[in-house]
Amino acid sequence: MLNSFWWGHSGNNGHGIHWFSWERLSVSKDHGGMGFKSLKAFNIAMLDITQVTFGGVFGAQNPSSKVAASGVLRPGDINKVKDIIMSNCKSWDIDKISSMFDSTTVRRIINTPLFASVRTDKLVWNLEHDGVYSVRSAYNYYVNNVGNQDNSGIAGNWHQIWRAKIPPKVKNLLWRIGRNVLPTRATLNSRSVQCLVHCAVCNDSAEDSIHILFLCPRSTECWQQAGLWNQIDAGLNTSNNIADILLFILQSLNKEQQEIFSVLLWSIWKRRNAKVWDNITESNTNVYERAQHLLTSWKQAQQTRSYANTPQPIQQRTNWEKPSQGRYKCNIDASFSSTHNKVGIGMCIRDDQGRYVAAKTEWLEPILDVEIGEAMGLFSAVKWVDELRLSDVDFEMDCKRVVDCLHSSRTYNSDLGDILRDCRVILATNLVNSHVKFIRRQANEVAHRLAREATCLASFHIFIDIPTCIYDIIMNEMR
Ligand SMILES: [Zn+2]
Repeated sequence: MLNSFWWGHSGNNGHGIHWFSWERLSVSKDHGGMGFKSLKAFNIAMLDITQVTFGGVFGAQNPSSKVAASGVLRPGDINKVKDIIMSNCKSWDIDKISSMFDSTTVRRIINTPLFASVRTDKLVWNLEHDGVYSVRSAYNYYVNNVGNQDNSGIAGNWHQIWRAKIPPKVKNLLWRIGRNVLPTRATLNSRSVQCLVHCAVCNDSAEDSIHILFLCPRSTECWQQAGLWNQIDAGLNTSNNIADILLFILQSLNKEQQEIFSVLLWSIWKRRNAKVWDNITESNTNVYERAQHLLTSWKQAQQTRSYANTPQPIQQRTNWEKPSQGRYKCNIDASFSSTHNKVGIGMCIRDDQGRYVAAKTEWLEPILDVEIGEAMGLFSAVKWVDELRLSDVDFEMDCKRVVDCLHSSRTYNSDLGDILRDCRVILATNLVNSHVKFIRRQANEVAHRLAREATCLASFHIFIDIPTCIYDIIMNEMR
């Protein structure tokens, strides 16, 4: 029924044919599908998460999870993750792990970071930030990973179609061309629909999509007039496959050319339909002007709509500001170096005149998820400020999600949730008059540079004097 709705039954131009099965339409847009709801994936996500989790969603895919081992542990081997952690300190029991698992698994386990903030074993769903299982995330995972292992999709840069700034009906046509489901006479004949074979426009060659859209003499003229023939000709020489040709041509064009190319395809196909259904012969000027008109009127409508719908965004400041009188400001940032397999953390405290108070760099390894790394940065800064016995501190960082999670009343069943809970405890007990705020990256340059520096330093540092890497920023921002 869903499929009938999509392809429709009305009209006599082949619309009654179900060109694709629903499962093929539900292949993600990256793989040439329409990204429709896959019923198979949806049922699995709703009913049977074991199929999905077996693929490694619980932990194994994401080394930051405290249950990273769950993808490889067998029931009965050990009961809980804490069974393979040293009893006297927060580190993996390497001897025990090595005696139980193969070397690859051992490496995966010991590369899973352990956080002091995480104190109990629990299952964490890695695909949601709050660590709680959701049908939506399981569904997306299945469609994008497991579901694509069948042959329903076609690899290629389909996103250039979906992201183009062109009317949706033109996108849809491009997709139909690429998936070779345009109802040309050749396609209809191949699906046992009785009809003529010759091109309706030139009445000469067989009407397949490559002919009607590109090689039909009238179409070729259109492309020459639009100045796009060279790129199209190059595309036609790369392959006999319409999807390859289409995606190749799109790739070789700039944004404006892509738009003209797309609407011209639509208009050329419209000329063919005018001939077939109404016996109207249109000139190349008709075709070109209709394409231009569609594009300009659609763009105008978009502009009017976006102007009417979007309130002017509140300007987020992009420069660092001194804290108000009597307060301190602590900027925090994390930097992620895959070369060093480390997360660098940088923090810098200044007073209400913008004068330098102190800075600190440290690092963690292995590399972590961005939000976990940023949250660890905040935790470390909050602890340090508390140790320094400072109060009235404005903490600033440029990771919005961490700041939002910190202030959220939701319970997070994840490492992030546990780390932020510890931050909240310190803030609520010893730093009651301090706040954590989000700022733009440009206003956090000092912490950003320190964090980047931290990944290259062998040890942790507390800087009493201004480090050279941030000297110019401190001087500039003090003015
Ligand atoms: Zn023709």
